Amino acid sequence: MNEIKLFCPATIANVSCGFDVLGLCLESVGDEMTITKTAEKGIRITEIIGAELPLETEKNVAGVAALSLIEALQPDCGFEISITKKIKAGSGIGSSAASAAGAVFGINQLLGNPLTNTELVYYAMQGEKLASGSAHADNVAPALLGGFTLVRSYDPLDVIAIKAPNELYATVIHPQIELKTKDARSVLRENISLKKATIQCGNIAGLISGLYTNDYDLIGRSLHDELVEPVRSILIPKFAELKAAAKEAGALGGGISGSGPSVFALSKGRENAEATAKAMKAVLEPIGVPFEVHVSGINAEGMKILHV
Ligand code: ADP
Repeated sequence: MNEIKLFCPATIANVSCGFDVLGLCLESVGDEMTITKTAEKGIRITEIIGAELPLETEKNVAGVAALSLIEALQPDCGFEISITKKIKAGSGIGSSAASAAGAVFGINQLLGNPLTNTELVYYAMQGEKLASGSAHADNVAPALLGGFTLVRSYDPLDVIAIKAPNELYATVIHPQIELKTKDARSVLRENISLKKATIQCGNIAGLISGLYTNDYDLIGRSLHDELVEPVRSILIPKFAELKAAAKEAGALGGGISGSGPSVFALSKGRENAEATAKAMKAVLEPIGVPFEVHVSGINAEGMKILHV
């Protein structure tokens, strides 16, 4: 195998109550990436279609993630990477993660899979470090493993894949304002009260339990973020109205996708996810902020091989 073409999925990190530890993988939104083996060693990004992003290996998350993997595996060849971006950078649905995860997944495939997808999470995280200044795994883990993922621990890294209930759908609305991950992190408080921590623990445990038992109501009740949403939501236009509109349309619940500005809702069934999309659009249309809306099933697989 000398070349591989991939679908690199978008992801929703945090999922309300799981700041930096929970994420889910989307089915219908993602980039494409082609990776080709070369005789010359090293990593070269040959083209990026659909976005203005650096081609220099060390400045592109795909390049940085790939370099960390080849540093560990020391293959006898190099790789060229061509990326077609469909996920807008800075949207909050894991644009950088799709590239970082795609690069390590594709190279691992071309080398005959010396590592498992779970082992690849660490190398993809090195790309994320370039994008946001912190090597977080809550986007790259679901992009590599599919479904929901829980980062139980960062040190040592311990990532658990969790299957999503079949009828769970996501709606994402992306108000196209600029909100840098670094800025969205800078508003966060360093310390939290015991009371807030207790509420957060209850919700995250409730969400995980709801996913395992297909209890949609419990999933909805648990989509509550006591820690980050109250401060971060101020940076997102009409956040409270978007969330209220989604609930009114019958969604289970929602919150900020990753570090924003995208806002997500989860629904039982595609029909409800479409109705939620319509309700959320109606909130943003009158204020004239341009936006994109995605309705997607939960992607159980993660990275998809389009052809080899
Ligand atoms: P998101 O949450 O949507 O991933 P981030 O703000 O975390 O957005 O990451 C986007 C940042 O990463 C931008 O500053 C962008 O220039 C940088 N970047 C570098 N390489 C890539 C890439 N291949 N894909 C997307 N973003 C990249």
